[in-house]
Amino acid sequence: AQERYASILDLPAQAKCGSVISLHMNAGLMADLPSLTSSGAEGVGLFRTELQFLVRNQMPRRMELAALYSRVLDAAHGKRVVFRTLDIGSDKVLPYMKPTDEPNPALGWRAIRVGLDKPGVMRMQLQALIRAANGRPLAVMFPFVAQFEEFRAARAEMDKTLAREERLGHVLPSRIEVGAMLETPSLAFAPKKFFEEVEFVSIGGNDLKQFFFAADRENELVRRRYDTLNLSFLNFLQGIVERCEETGTAVSFCGEDAGRPVEALCFGAIGLRTLSMRPASIGPVKSLIRRCNLDEVREIIEQARERGDMSVRPAVMDYIRAQHS
Ligand code: PEP
Ligand code: MG
Repeated sequence: AQERYASILDLPAQAKCGSVISLHMNAGLMADLPSLTSSGAEGVGLFRTELQFLVRNQMPRRMELAALYSRVLDAAHGKRVVFRTLDIGSDKVLPYMKPTDEPNPALGWRAIRVGLDKPGVMRMQLQALIRAANGRPLAVMFPFVAQFEEFRAARAEMDKTLAREERLGHVLPSRIEVGAMLETPSLAFAPKKFFEEVEFVSIGGNDLKQFFFAADRENELVRRRYDTLNLSFLNFLQGIVERCEETGTAVSFCGEDAGRPVEALCFGAIGLRTLSMRPASIGPVKSLIRRCNLDEVREIIEQARERGDMSVRPAVMDYIRAQHS
């Protein structure tokens, strides 16, 4: 299937209106890295770090992690890699951690909540990342931030770790970017100051959507019940993009929906300019964006709003079909 997109591999995802969408890939294993070249991704927009913690029966050592992250950066050849700190807890229980018995694991003690309550592991991981960067740029984001204070506390851990590493004589990253994943609706309504302080926001659409519609992403009975292109959700996403534009905060979308061409097109139409997806989705997404005009899609979304459509999908699909003929 990748051959079908070989002719556009080196071309930008530029729409007919001239706007360019920057396409990045999601990864989590060393084995994913060769896709950076073969897919034409501009970088790794989401590197999920939990796999290295889940596949073993004891806590990985700092040195092992630093070596692994260093190899990831080597393999990226200077392309940006956004490392997401450990997103575990509840359902993703580490075999060597005391299990917790929680009635609603998805709403439970997970991700940054664990990181802040038991900072030892987070500090170790931040140290490993700083050492792996070894003078190169470093981008890190924290998962599942529900309120500004959590981001501030995590950012403070990063600053403390940087200071400690410097005292120990390690070379610091040449540039450091610290971001937050926006995966809970509450963060979209955080004070303006949050958007001013955070260096970038990455919308984790998988979790954000499940909490927006109160529909479990793991539950077959409800997980496909609500369309991502439902206008309520699209309006919500557009609001987030506009808040980020107001403060000049970089914003991207890294949930699975970014890899679905029609969804990606609509995300571009509401102002998102950076998407991160499975490597195999980059070709199809780019191909559709190049055939369409984002201003026109935006207008179609506006008309759907005025009509009171439930989802913009039917209208956008009609538009897409018309681009072929
Ligand atoms: C998300 O929630 O959209 C996301 C990218 O993170 P994960 O799928 O790993 O929860
Ligand atoms: Mg998530």
